[in-house]
Amino acid sequence: MTQDRLRKLLIVGGGTAGWMTAALLSRMFGRTLAITLVESEEIGTIGVGEATIPPILTFNDALKIDEADFLRATQGTIKLGIQFNDWGRLGDSYMHAFGGVGHHHGLSPFVHYFLRARAAGRTDRLWDFSLNERAAMAGKFGKLAGIEGTPLPGLNYAYHFDAGLYARYLRAMAERAGVVRREGKVAGVRLRGSDGFVEALEMEGGEAIEADLFVDCTGMRSLLIGEALKVGFIDWGQWLPCDRAIAVQSENVAPPRPYTQSFAHQAGWQWRIPLQHRTGNGHVYSSRYLGEDEATQVLLDGLEGPAVTDPRVIRFRTGRRAKFWDRNVVAIGLSSGFLEPLESTSIHLIQQAVVKLATLFPDAQFDPAYAAEYNRQMVDEFDGIRDFIILHYHANQRDDAAMWRDCAAMAVPDSLARRIELFRQSGRIFREQNELFHEVGWMQVMIGQNIWPHRYDHMADALAEGKLMEFLDNLKIIMGGAVSRLPDHAAYLASIGCNVKGAA
Ligand SMILES: Cc1cc2nc3c(=O)[nH]c(=O)nc-3n(C[C@H](O)[C@H](O)[C@H](O)COP(=O)(O)OP(=O)(O)OC[C@H]3O[C@@H](n4cnc5c(N)ncnc54)[C@H](O)[C@@H]3O)c2cc1C
Repeated sequence: MTQDRLRKLLIVGGGTAGWMTAALLSRMFGRTLAITLVESEEIGTIGVGEATIPPILTFNDALKIDEADFLRATQGTIKLGIQFNDWGRLGDSYMHAFGGVGHHHGLSPFVHYFLRARAAGRTDRLWDFSLNERAAMAGKFGKLAGIEGTPLPGLNYAYHFDAGLYARYLRAMAERAGVVRREGKVAGVRLRGSDGFVEALEMEGGEAIEADLFVDCTGMRSLLIGEALKVGFIDWGQWLPCDRAIAVQSENVAPPRPYTQSFAHQAGWQWRIPLQHRTGNGHVYSSRYLGEDEATQVLLDGLEGPAVTDPRVIRFRTGRRAKFWDRNVVAIGLSSGFLEPLESTSIHLIQQAVVKLATLFPDAQFDPAYAAEYNRQMVDEFDGIRDFIILHYHANQRDDAAMWRDCAAMAVPDSLARRIELFRQSGRIFREQNELFHEVGWMQVMIGQNIWPHRYDHMADALAEGKLMEFLDNLKIIMGGAVSRLPDHAAYLASIGCNVKGAA
């Protein structure tokens, strides 16, 4: 068997995408692959993207990152879920908490027991049975794999961190593993006449950098996949109305919460991401419904502490490239597409893309089957998340603002319409293929935004009513006990050497 291995990989761009790619590929391929990363300090990075979801732990593990060291270096905090305020109706609040909700009993998912008990007059919140939500609302966190003496799992978590510091952290790792960083601006892309593959990047100043494979991490500029190879962009603006964000950082006025907050406003929503040393805030909004000055004012009015940076406007388009891998270019990060940050999925998509690139890494033949499989898998990743985010916009009952009325009335993709209808009719949800969000995530958003099923699964009736009530009471008591034994989030961070501002 002969294998004509690729020797040179060039990553273009040094944002979160570029350095995540460099760190993971250098770890996986060692020095068998010469990796160079080109970035331009003058152009800079997008500078946002600070909330993650639990699979980030797997990524950091693969890099053998020590968690405490990483949290100290990135001003990181713990994230147990995202709290959504005013999304269903004004005044509503719910959490998309990580981890499970309730516990299986018999063959029916927990939601059916919950719905049956509700029909019988119980008034619990769904989240009374979520350990993550209860710990989050109590401001608690500790490492907990399972609740002792029970089959119940413990806490499932992710991180908030400073994106610039995370990139710096990964850069140091990648450089130690042999990645060569080149400072400079790419001025042009040279394509091979015979097949249109990228041959070299032409730098400002005239130098050309050649490679076998190019990873486009140039952010929204999309220099290689978009500009040079002219791969089209599929726009999802008809379902996801927001196209601007204004970002600002503020002082911490209290210990950081172990969860992200999202506040729906008139024409978009605001994020609040607590770090050790400051809070990240942003107003994501639709320019169709709101002007920039007004949007900035809404953001500033919603800060908890004084702003420490000037508000910065970021324009974006929601959608994805028609292909993520074309010829010898693979687009990773914002160059490949963007789903707005509502469920903190972009960094996860970078992670997925790098892992898939490693597992489908080409040789010099560039067999089109590799790219086809990669594209198929990445399309599934993007499209599954798309529907989940659209659900948040569509399932609203707010009649106080035009954007929300329009979102409630819009026709959603069939795949989503089908799912909502099935849940409404039966309380049933099925995770499709390997999609990111599990049934428990879909359920929390649907119930959180007032899509209440008309029926529950008949199997839930097999349990005698007294037993059902006892089962639910016990779950609440066990979870309450587990939460009470956890340390405060800020105390936990301090115990691993973090310097938390705003803590008493
Ligand atoms: C408003 C907003 C909020 C977000 N919040 C979240 C969140 O909470 N969670 C999450 O997971 N994701 C979030 N994201 C997405 C996240 O920010 C990105 O996925 C992540 O930062 C990766 O960006 P990137 O590396 O692809 O691009 P960038 O950070 O823009 O980096 C691009 C790189 O390319 C380089 N470059 C560009 N052109 C050239 C050139 N000609 N020559 C040389 N170098 C060049 C730049 O210098 C830079 O190094 C958010 C995005 C936005 C817009």
